[in-house]
Amino acid sequence: MRRSILSTALALVLALALATAAQAQPKGLTKIAENVYSYVGVKDASPKHSYAANAGIVIGTDGVLVIDTLATAKEGKRLLKDIRAVTKKPIKYVVTTHEHFDHALGSSVFTDLGATLVAHELNRAYLAKNGESMLKKIQAFGLSPQDIAGTRIVLPSLTFTERLTIRLGSQDNEVVELIHLTSSHSPGSTLVYLPRQKVLFAGDVLFTDFHPFMGEGDVPGWVKTLDFIDGLDATAIIPGHGPLSTKKDVADMREYIQLFDAKAKELAPTAKDPASLAAEMKKLLPARSLGEGMIQYNLMIKYLPAKK
Ligand SMILES: [Zn+2]
Repeated sequence: MRRSILSTALALVLALALATAAQAQPKGLTKIAENVYSYVGVKDASPKHSYAANAGIVIGTDGVLVIDTLATAKEGKRLLKDIRAVTKKPIKYVVTTHEHFDHALGSSVFTDLGATLVAHELNRAYLAKNGESMLKKIQAFGLSPQDIAGTRIVLPSLTFTERLTIRLGSQDNEVVELIHLTSSHSPGSTLVYLPRQKVLFAGDVLFTDFHPFMGEGDVPGWVKTLDFIDGLDATAIIPGHGPLSTKKDVADMREYIQLFDAKAKELAPTAKDPASLAAEMKKLLPARSLGEGMIQYNLMIKYLPAKK
C-alpha cells in the first residue's frame, strides 16, 4: 500500500511542530570545497522553508549541477537566487536525491532554464505515478496555494539504476557519481559523490540532529547504504537535513535506525497507544534535537499499522 505522499507530508509537519528557529543559521549557500556549495545546518524547518532540506551545487567548466530542488517552485527560485550569488554559469543538470517532495518539487525552475533533470529510475516512476496527486495534497500539510503557486511536476529525462557518472568538464575534479545500492530511506534514494573533492551529498539517507523519517525506510538496505558510506573516501558529508556531517554522524544514524527498528518491533505488539510508545521510544533512542514528532509518526506508519 502506498501511503507515501500523505505520510511524508504529515511526518514533515510533525517534525516541524518540534523544530526550532532559535539558533543562527548560515545565509545562502556555504562553500564546502572548491566549486562545491550547499545549504547546511538549516534551522527553519517550516513548510515554507522546505522543512529545512539541504540542496547544493557543483560548478564545472561546462556549467553547474544542482543537487535537490526543495519543496516548491518558489523554493526552487530561492535556491536559484542563492546559486546566482555564487556563479553565473549555465545550469546543465539537476539531480534529485529521492522522490520526497521537499527535495524534488522545485525542479521545474531548473528544467525551464534548459537543465537536464536526472534521477533514479524508481524516483521517476514514483513521480510519474504520484506526482500530480502529491501536488494536490501538499496544500493540506502547511503549504498555502500561494506557497505552491507555479509548482509543477517535471519528470526526469535522464535516469539510471545503479550508477551514473556525469562530467562537468574534462578535469578529474569535475566528476559527479550517482550511486544507488538498494532501497534505503526510500526505494530510489541516491548518493551523489564527488570523489576528488571527497564530498558526499547523502540525501535523506542521513539525517543529522533531526529524527529521521523512516515511514518508507528499508532498514536492512538503509544499514547497507550507511555501511557503504562509511567505506567511502569522504571527508565532508551533506545530510538531507542537518549540519555538515562526518562519518561519526553516519555511525550515529545507523545506530539510531537499527535501535528504532529493533525496539519498535519488540514494543509495538503490546503498546497501549502510539503516544505512549513514542514516549518510551524517545527514552531509548540517541538524542536528536529536532523533529521529535517524527518518532510517533514513524511508529504509526511502519510499526503500528492497525492503530493508525
Ligand atoms: Zn526523504
